[in-house]
Amino acid sequence: MAGVASSSNGGAPPPPPRRRRVLLFPLPFQGHINPMLHLGDALHARGLAVTVLHTRLNAPDPALRRPEFRFVPVPDGVPRDVAASGDVIAIIGAMNAAMEAEGAAALRAVLLAVLADEAQPPAACIVFDANLLAVPAAAAVVGLRTLVLRTASAACFRCLAAYPMLHQRGYLPPQESKLYMPVEELPPLRVKDLFYSSLSNHDKMRGLLARGIEAVKSSSGLVINTFDALEAAELERISAELNVPMLLAPGPLHKLSKNSRSSTIIAWLDKMPSRSVLYVSFGSLASMDAGEFLEVAWGLANSGHRFLWVVRPDSVRGSSDGPAGLPDGFEAAVDDGRGKVIRWAPQQEVLAHRAVGGFWTHCGWNSTLESIGEGVPMICRPQFADQMMNTRYVVKVWGVGLELEGELERGRIERAVRKLMEGREGEEMRERAVELKEKVADCLKIGGSSQIAIDKLVNYIHSA
Ligand code: UDP
Repeated sequence: MAGVASSSNGGAPPPPPRRRRVLLFPLPFQGHINPMLHLGDALHARGLAVTVLHTRLNAPDPALRRPEFRFVPVPDGVPRDVAASGDVIAIIGAMNAAMEAEGAAALRAVLLAVLADEAQPPAACIVFDANLLAVPAAAAVVGLRTLVLRTASAACFRCLAAYPMLHQRGYLPPQESKLYMPVEELPPLRVKDLFYSSLSNHDKMRGLLARGIEAVKSSSGLVINTFDALEAAELERISAELNVPMLLAPGPLHKLSKNSRSSTIIAWLDKMPSRSVLYVSFGSLASMDAGEFLEVAWGLANSGHRFLWVVRPDSVRGSSDGPAGLPDGFEAAVDDGRGKVIRWAPQQEVLAHRAVGGFWTHCGWNSTLESIGEGVPMICRPQFADQMMNTRYVVKVWGVGLELEGELERGRIERAVRKLMEGREGEEMRERAVELKEKVADCLKIGGSSQIAIDKLVNYIHSA
């Protein structure tokens, strides 16, 4: 018939592409679960089915589970006392050892059961957290392709890959006299900014890191929660120095997710003037001692600024049975309603609120990206892992924050708060933060770098 294009299936429209499923396996800590679920949101929005594997330890909060995803438990084998210790390195070590036991039999059984579920579209690959070292071998046995998600920065990955060199050249273990020495191979880092745990066994740590790098090289690709305009040089160096088959930077992943939560705290912020509130939170793991807690309380109260402070039940060491008590007189000092202390915040919504003018953070990578994504300048108080190097980039490379160094002391805290919230320097940091926010908006637009990275990932998933 004239005007009707002929086709091999007799003129009927082509069949829709076969729906595929992607498996996700996050490390069971908030800073790792969140970006993995956000990646899942982005893939689900592109038509993929999502199955989340999770350990029983720190299983995703049922209230935060997506009804559109499947959640499947995996035995983690972490002994109770190790789980209760709160020692993240020990927990990861115990989890990997248990999951790898008997040729990763338990994990393989879960994977086989998930693959055999005919009620779900066929699984195309598994995206796993870089720390879950049992996954590559188990996935290979069941014939599943793997991709690694790194939830820290590109700079952090590059630093971990350089760990053997850092030891060979004497940067590590760090010596007190050399803490401020620049690491010429990894600018702008200094020895004190390196990812380093003084408690760890170095040979063990070196072995683990080497396996982590191998897992990346033997996978189909590496996904890093960052974006081109933020870490262009670091991403280029990873491409040049490491043989990574496919390197994708679709971050900030939380910005690709439409999942948001409302909370009564937003109503409190609604009553506050624009950019007047300092949001204070040290993530899901960092803690302080009772003396430091007092200094923070008085530093905030004495600053005269509005603040919203997250104090988790385990924020103060030795008080895990309940929230730490605020010092006598504290409530009276802020009873004009300018201060609020809460146990947990819907952080992304808080940072996006027009009333928030600064973020006092421990500089976990998610918190750093969430602050950058909203153009909020930071006071950085890093404690461990990658937090020191994130701080270095915030202060030195992007110029969107200041570091609060030395002992936590109320006078020093008060001055840092004032510098950020009312000083000229703070204003300049805010201006640069707003510029970075615009770069985030650009990478999220159609044709922006994050969207292109997700396109590539979706194409890869459909290519099997
Ligand atoms: N977070 C939150 N509410 C809080 C504190 C933290 O939602 O009161 C979230 C925060 O938005 C981030 C994650 O927990 O996504 C913490 O990750 P990050 O990498 O910043 O630090 P970690 O907890 O891993 O040290």
